[in-house]
Amino acid sequence: PRRAGRRFGRARGAALRAKKPAPMPETQRVYPAKDLCSRCGLCNTSLISKVQSACAFLGHGMLRIDSLESRVHGRQRTEEELYFGVAQHGIHSIRTKPQHAPKTRTAWTGVVTAIACEMLRSNKVDAVLCVASKGDGAQLEPKPILARTEAEVLSSGGVKPMLSPNLLPLEELWQVRGGEIRRLLFIGVGCQVQALRAVEEDLGLEELYVLGTNCVDNPRSPEALQRFLKSASEFPDTAAGFEFMQDNRIHVKHSDGRYERIPVFSLKDPQMCTGVIAKSCYACFDYVNALTDLTVGYMGAPWEGKEMTQHSQYCVVRNAKGQEMLEIAKDRLRMGEVDLEVPGRVDRFGLLPQVLKPELDLAFGRRKASVGPPRWLAELLCELLTRLGPQGLDFARASIERATVRNLVCLEAMRGQKGSPRTSAELGVPRHAARIREKYQDLYEELLAAYSD
Ligand code: FAD
Ligand code: SF4
Ligand code: SF4
Repeated sequence: PRRAGRRFGRARGAALRAKKPAPMPETQRVYPAKDLCSRCGLCNTSLISKVQSACAFLGHGMLRIDSLESRVHGRQRTEEELYFGVAQHGIHSIRTKPQHAPKTRTAWTGVVTAIACEMLRSNKVDAVLCVASKGDGAQLEPKPILARTEAEVLSSGGVKPMLSPNLLPLEELWQVRGGEIRRLLFIGVGCQVQALRAVEEDLGLEELYVLGTNCVDNPRSPEALQRFLKSASEFPDTAAGFEFMQDNRIHVKHSDGRYERIPVFSLKDPQMCTGVIAKSCYACFDYVNALTDLTVGYMGAPWEGKEMTQHSQYCVVRNAKGQEMLEIAKDRLRMGEVDLEVPGRVDRFGLLPQVLKPELDLAFGRRKASVGPPRWLAELLCELLTRLGPQGLDFARASIERATVRNLVCLEAMRGQKGSPRTSAELGVPRHAARIREKYQDLYEELLAAYSD
């Protein structure tokens, strides 16, 4: 069966390559989804022929999540699963055991890297498609690879906070290595996973596992990332990673091991951040990566007052394959130790309007050069919000609501503007986003009116 599969993989690849149009070069400037393109890499492969039905930003775009959920998980999400997506094997706290954490760079405790290594070591897959970095002087810039060894997987630890063409190495699957890779673990974020799931049948694989992370507000280019870092950090040149943490501060990890903790209200020059976030991310309704088998993130884990590489994460186990990945890596993981449902004292519904206004000002280029509160006051505000505001899964729900309502307003209000001619109705909004809009209908209409002129 292996040999037959190999022939099938080659034949499939050859058949697809025989079709027109040819893959776009990576240097291509304009892609089919135009400004909304998240550079997922599909258009740089032979599968560009599938772009109209696979791209998360063409046709009915993210609306396809609803039907793909049924295909991938056997059913759509229920009302209880509205925010985090299908979770047939539950939502749990997770972290690596300190003695079994990857010894190389990781974003948090290295859950994703540890699982990927165990999938290779146990021979469940032939390769892992993951995101290494471009290296020397460009540690934060993504370079998607087909990893065949543990060392290669380890080289992919850590977030490269930028749009990444994760589907690009699929071309290598057929071209260079022929049918050698029959079983693949794909690691990626929502827009990439949506395109992957749409072409899953065309890959000619025997087995596909999908492990993903949450994702929101990705910088659109190296230059955009540098602008953000200069606005946030005193030492942008040594930044090796950063995260918007649950204590309402941006934690910047530096290459010498130091951490900088900047209150979100204390950006040096918020105006500099205009245009940093990719336009695709303002049209994205898949923060939680709904089409993975297993999603790992941090925002649902209550604040523990630790550095991110020591801090609990959380995971959503969507189906049997997700559960299988956890089983394979179980000796390296600690699960379910932390209670994720922690009530905050301040209701999250009241906070959303305060948070959305500056975000929308940024999206619409209306952010004025402003002096934020003095540092002591910014720190105090962070303390109060962290102690009294939403925690754990409620913090995550607040983050999902913020991104969803903001993006609905952006899509609708930018109707007809140059580069963003399509409305949310034309693009299609998945059911969960429409349900969140219903919950905030008055606020949504108020903001739409304010930003539509
Ligand atoms: P590691 O073991 O360090 O593995 C990280 C994995 O991320 C690697 O396998 C690598 O292949 C992959 N990766 C790195 N860069 C990219 C990229 N640009 N595109 C696709 N895959 C990539 N979690 C939240 O809860 N809220 C958020 O808002 C959030 N935003 C994120 C934004 C991005 C762009 C990414 C990649 C992740 C984001 N996460 C978010 C997830 C979080 O930062 C951690 O990645 C996650 O908790 C796993 O940590 P880890 O230590 O297990 O990962
Ligand atoms: Fe092509 Fe991906 Fe861009 Fe869509 S998002 S146009 S599929 S590269
Ligand atoms: Fe893709 Fe959405 Fe992440 Fe942007 S926020 S990179 S569109 S998954």
